[in-house]
Amino acid sequence: MIKLYIVLPCYNEEAILEQTTALLTAKLESLQKSEKITDTSRIVYVDDGSKDSTWSLIQKIYAENPWVMGIKLNRNRGHQNALLCGLMTIREDADAVISMDADLQDDIDAIDAMLEKYENGADVVYGVRSARKSDSFFKRFTAEEYYRILNRLGAKVIFNHADFRLMSCRALEALSEFKEVNVFLRGLVPMVGYQSDIVLYERKARTAGESKYPLRKMLHLAWEGITSLSIRPIRLVALAGCLSLVVALGLIIYSIIRLILGQTVAGWTSLMVSIWLVGGLQLLAIGIIGEYIGKIYLETKQRPRYKVEDILKK
Ligand code: UDP
Ligand code: MG
Repeated sequence: MIKLYIVLPCYNEEAILEQTTALLTAKLESLQKSEKITDTSRIVYVDDGSKDSTWSLIQKIYAENPWVMGIKLNRNRGHQNALLCGLMTIREDADAVISMDADLQDDIDAIDAMLEKYENGADVVYGVRSARKSDSFFKRFTAEEYYRILNRLGAKVIFNHADFRLMSCRALEALSEFKEVNVFLRGLVPMVGYQSDIVLYERKARTAGESKYPLRKMLHLAWEGITSLSIRPIRLVALAGCLSLVVALGLIIYSIIRLILGQTVAGWTSLMVSIWLVGGLQLLAIGIIGEYIGKIYLETKQRPRYKVEDILKK
């Protein structure tokens, strides 16, 4: 039997917490009846400094419901930090932890399939959206394009997977070795290693309350994802510098030909060439300096270099 913890970050979710609790409790009870999980399994609400009555509601639910646990952050730190806090606080108590949104958009019934994959040896099980019917065209398009861009920039993220996933306690332990401050869990979890698997689910519309991710927060998360995972944008600057130098070379030849043919006004050739030459050199220099800054950036993260899964020795 698995000791399962379900972690849900909550920011101003008073409208939906009762409903979420009812459904999750029913799920845990049925899983316990079929002897898949222990009765020491828990639902963990992490209150991310909510401004409404979310925390008092969690306290009330905690008093009534033996499955429920609560963690309160002293102020709003954002979804990723709240989730990480939940995971790190309970990682030594559980066998496996599932993270999901508090708004019931992630399919609770996918939990069974996740547990099955976990029992079959997967340390990380990603919930992957099979359809985005509930999203607007804009959200679907931007989200899917974003996953493609991230992958092109060299960050290995799972396509159409957000933060609905199961992790084993040893995967969490490996995650805890990533000390970086700017966390984008979607990008970090694949770096943890171990065997992984996916479960497809259909993402539903929010049943109550409204999205806590306005465009501003979404852009912030998207930018965080790129800059915390990839230093390739810096290389693009250096590349732009090289391209400018090639253009400058072309212009030098072109202007000299025009000069020889006597088709120029005085000063045009030198101005034209120096603008491109100096501009290109500057971009290239910034790119090179950036490359070192990128290295320093990666060093400061002090990510673990390896993780031993098994040792055979006599
Ligand atoms: N959330 C959080 N802190 C924040 C914003 C959001 O803990 O600053 C939680 C929120 O309560 C929810 C999850 O993160 O459980 C996802 O947020 P939301 O459903 O609003 O995002 P969307 O599904 O609209 O992208
Ligand atoms: Mg949501």
